Amino acid sequence: MQTFEKHESAVRSYIRDFPAIFTTASGHHVYDEDGRRYIDFFAGAGVLNYGHNNPRLKEKVIAYLAGDGIVHSLDMATDAKRTFLDTFFDRILRPRGLNYKVQFPGPTGTNAVEAALKLARKVTGRHLVVGFTNGFHGMTLGSLSVTGNGTKRGGAGIPLSHALHMPFCGYHGDGVDTLKVFERYLADSGSGIDLPAAVIVETVQGEGGINVGSVAWLRELERLCRRHDIVLIVDDIQMGCGRTGPFFSFEIAGIKPDIVCLSKSIGGYGLPMALTLIAPRLDQWSPGEHNGTFRGNNVAFVAATEAIEAYWSDNAFELDTLRKGKRVATRLDKIAGMRPDLIATRRGRGLIQGLVFNDGATAGQAARTAFSHGLIIETAGPQGEVLKIMPPLTIDDEALAAGLDIIARTVESMAPTRGIDKVA
Ligand SMILES: *Cc1c(COP(=O)(O)O)cnc(C)c1O
Repeated sequence: MQTFEKHESAVRSYIRDFPAIFTTASGHHVYDEDGRRYIDFFAGAGVLNYGHNNPRLKEKVIAYLAGDGIVHSLDMATDAKRTFLDTFFDRILRPRGLNYKVQFPGPTGTNAVEAALKLARKVTGRHLVVGFTNGFHGMTLGSLSVTGNGTKRGGAGIPLSHALHMPFCGYHGDGVDTLKVFERYLADSGSGIDLPAAVIVETVQGEGGINVGSVAWLRELERLCRRHDIVLIVDDIQMGCGRTGPFFSFEIAGIKPDIVCLSKSIGGYGLPMALTLIAPRLDQWSPGEHNGTFRGNNVAFVAATEAIEAYWSDNAFELDTLRKGKRVATRLDKIAGMRPDLIATRRGRGLIQGLVFNDGATAGQAARTAFSHGLIIETAGPQGEVLKIMPPLTIDDEALAAGLDIIARTVESMAPTRGIDKVA
């Protein structure tokens, strides 16, 4: 770790949570330089839905590189990009009754969000964008302005303006329909709130603590946007590409967002790639009005195409994710039931599940202990109080059970109640 402490900026973070030097990885296993093997319940924060070094994708990537295929192309036409666009349309969009123009922004998630916000403002001529409490959309200023987390927002160093946060589904408890609050603001010309250009939402909030937007809530949000002519942006960067079961996380609600942001697992192999999907009537960019140098990562296009062919030609992968998600949920409910003094509840959808601890310190300790037992797992939520279960979707049942066993053992062994500390 000396090299990192000596040379790398203090901004480094995951390295602090997972103090090992990693060398190789395969599927749901990661190895460090001491030869220790870890089960991966982190999946590169959602980048590795198809596992590390997926052999089908790797074969295509190696063949493409060996054949001197174009690697970098800005946004020029390449055969790799054409194949990706055709495959994405034929296998993903058309079967779902969706029609979007595909914008290739820069290669990261926040690039996809910035493009979406900019376009929504351009098309509507309005400035305000509404995000939700505990939403997470990235670290550049536009994305940060619609992100909830106070520490991250504080890093901006300037006021984050032209954005407003409304309460997410369930924010005020089960009894309160948070969209009623929002709707009332919009309907009342005395509310002091300008008509927004757009609303940006995650169907399940990843970084914000695995808060699940209910189907009814998502449908009502779409209706609200339609009623007021507001652009609906779904940030599917973490929950898309099958994390919750279907390719798009919003499919369960049957809604059709105006703009969809994808990144993380879209590149398939862990290669940087992002997409901003735009309803054709909103595609009012003029050529080059928004651009970026790294929009043509052809190796990522090759891997992305093969990932779609391999996993999205039928619905078997989706069903398998839902089956595994149920197994995880059942087991986590049991674990939560064992230690009501530590754990408040379990929540999630598909293969994104959260074990909600009573406080962040305990959840953090659980993650660290689990790591010492060979499980890579992180926490989420405003206080880091949610242990976040996010394995590659390709994980086999045996490793899934082994990872859950580690969580069970970890939780079982934890000291009882926080109350005692307070007295002492
Ligand atoms: C990770 C993430 C982003 C930001 O992606 P980067 O590649 O880190 O810029 C945006 N939105 C959501 C929902 C994410 O999970």
